[in-house]
Amino acid sequence: MSRFWSAATHELVPYVPGEQPKLAGLIKLNTNECPYGPSPRALQAIREAASDTLRLYPDPESTALRDAIARHHRVERSQVFVGNGSDEVLAHAFQGLLKHDAPLLFPDITYSFYPVYCGLYGIAFETVALDDDFRVRPEDYRRPCGAIIIANPNAPTGIALSLGEIETILRDHPDQPVVIDEAYVDFGADSAVSLVGRYPNLLVVHTLSKSRALAGLRVGYAVGDAALIEALVRVKDSFNSYPLDRLAEAGASASIEDDSWFHETTARIIRSRETLVDGLERLGFLVLPSAANFVLARHPDRDGASLQRRLRENNVLVRHFNTPRIADHLRITIGTDAECDTLLERLGTILRANRD
Ligand SMILES: *Cc1c(COP(=O)(O)O)cnc(C)c1O
Repeated sequence: MSRFWSAATHELVPYVPGEQPKLAGLIKLNTNECPYGPSPRALQAIREAASDTLRLYPDPESTALRDAIARHHRVERSQVFVGNGSDEVLAHAFQGLLKHDAPLLFPDITYSFYPVYCGLYGIAFETVALDDDFRVRPEDYRRPCGAIIIANPNAPTGIALSLGEIETILRDHPDQPVVIDEAYVDFGADSAVSLVGRYPNLLVVHTLSKSRALAGLRVGYAVGDAALIEALVRVKDSFNSYPLDRLAEAGASASIEDDSWFHETTARIIRSRETLVDGLERLGFLVLPSAANFVLARHPDRDGASLQRRLRENNVLVRHFNTPRIADHLRITIGTDAECDTLLERLGTILRANRD
């Protein structure tokens, strides 16, 4: 705190990211990163971009990357916006599309950055409770609102809505923007990008941090009607004309074009998830049905915070949210099969030790 701060800064409640430990040798299953390195073609493109041309500003419109994304999703370039991580894309959407007099709606349990952006931009919001099975129920969103944002699959539950359920929300709110945050969609849910042509109120947000293994490059994008994209461009060009540097542009474009790396890696993580869920259930955990690269699980006899602490003492990081309804759960990122085996082994030891 300081007398030099603006009044608004005193009021901010910032997002708290998962721990990025400086220690080597930890098994890191706490921030939903990919356990495998990115596409070799992306790395090669970044190496080639690391040249004299770095003295020049990048393309402010990111044309090459937006074209690659447009080809990948079979949409027009005018329907694609890119940003410095999907967090930045989301921030621009909050400011440019989700701020209205009527409240923004989102689930009570979801990505904890959403209320942070509401605080930053002064956006009125209401949360809508997930049902007792931690599911989003589209009919619960039938109420007056200015806009809606839903993560699909939701985080940190991992539970996905069907496209039919998303269409229900879109049809119920033809005059409100609806943002679907698909950070985890590539691990087993259906993408709403296929609905963009039919719903001018739909904006779909993706990240290259999870399924493309490029969390360190900071690239995210949105796909939607050109009028929604134009709102994001107006905000961006009032904030930072060059959010993506030359290395990010080159690496992200090559990554988007590497279909075989993408399909192999996501399939591998989905297989590891099924094995991990079996192992957790054998240890007595209750695991929510996940379509993401993480699972949310609780043990009926154990407290989430203490399990997380014991795992950390055993060099395994998982995420615990000290928030209502999910404080007894652990969110565990899907690692390699070897990492998942080590996690299960150490959890088994911890559970047996507590029993004695
Ligand atoms: C990880 C995540 C993001 C942010 O991803 P970046 O592109 O790394 O900023 C956005 N939304 C959800 C739900 C996420 O889990």
